[in-house]
Amino acid sequence: RQQLYRELRDKPAVSKDGVAVDLLMNAGLAVDLPQLADSGAAGIGLFRTELQFMVASTFPRAETQERFYRDVLDATRGKPVTFRTIDIGGDKVLPYFKTVAHEENPALGWRAVRLTLDRPGLLRSQMRALLRAAAGRELRVMLPMVTELGEIERSREIIDKEVTHLSRFGHLLPTSLKVGAMLEVPSLLFQLDELMQAVDFVSVGSNDLFQFVMATDRGNSQLADRFDPLSVPFMRVLKQIAEAGARSDTPVTLCGELAGKPITAMALIGLGYRSISMSSASIGPVKAMLAELPVRALASFIDENLAGVSARLPMRALLQTFADDCG
Ligand code: PEP
Ligand code: MG
Repeated sequence: RQQLYRELRDKPAVSKDGVAVDLLMNAGLAVDLPQLADSGAAGIGLFRTELQFMVASTFPRAETQERFYRDVLDATRGKPVTFRTIDIGGDKVLPYFKTVAHEENPALGWRAVRLTLDRPGLLRSQMRALLRAAAGRELRVMLPMVTELGEIERSREIIDKEVTHLSRFGHLLPTSLKVGAMLEVPSLLFQLDELMQAVDFVSVGSNDLFQFVMATDRGNSQLADRFDPLSVPFMRVLKQIAEAGARSDTPVTLCGELAGKPITAMALIGLGYRSISMSSASIGPVKAMLAELPVRALASFIDENLAGVSARLPMRALLQTFADDCG
């Protein structure tokens, strides 16, 4: 198998029937970067910038952040990188940053974009570091835990102000700046078309989205296998997102654990996802699965079974039979 993955590494990621899929990797620290070349990923679909903050003992200075982001962009040699603005709070605590003393439900608490909108200095200095690091190159950033569209608008204002500030002082700017939102809070499912209009791209955070749609703590081992992401309701959610993206020509990626297992990655591709981001170790297995996959046949198979009022078997079992038939 390892031999097969190595052979596939420098080959394009295409299905048996010729559908190309961007297989991207998740990263967050310098140690992850060599995996980009080793795995053959097409880029970094999720760069968790908060990890750099979590391993530090105080807030990293703007220059330290800038140097780090520049190293990341240098290491990726033109492959796209999507930087997520700091996703702290919830389960990701910074020992040196006092948030509220006690939260009954930290996952639903003061975190991510909620926090950076209340402490705009954090977003401003991070954006300045990113903009400077990406001078003369493409910059992609995305906002975590967006709940309502106003949060995107207000974050964009802060970002645009930094762009204006840097250009006024004669700094070279990125050649392009794309701002996206993570879709991981269910409220956005009820304003999908407006969301697609409000951003340059969307990235589904399937770990949190599943947690919130199913009301199931992602870290609770007691519940780990109780509900299935490959169940009718969650697959319908994922399908609606892919369809809304296609309707408005807004690129949609999915970054979360679902992208990294061959059977769930297969389902995503069948649902219409053409860009998925996973741990680097999953790139080989998913690419090998893709090479054997007739995507159009799978899409019809999913449509038939997802539309029916009651499927004969659970979706996962149906998808497994499809996968077995493909070898
Ligand atoms: C997610 O929620 O699916 C995600 C990719 O982000 P994280 O796991 O860092 O919350
Ligand atoms: Mg998340």
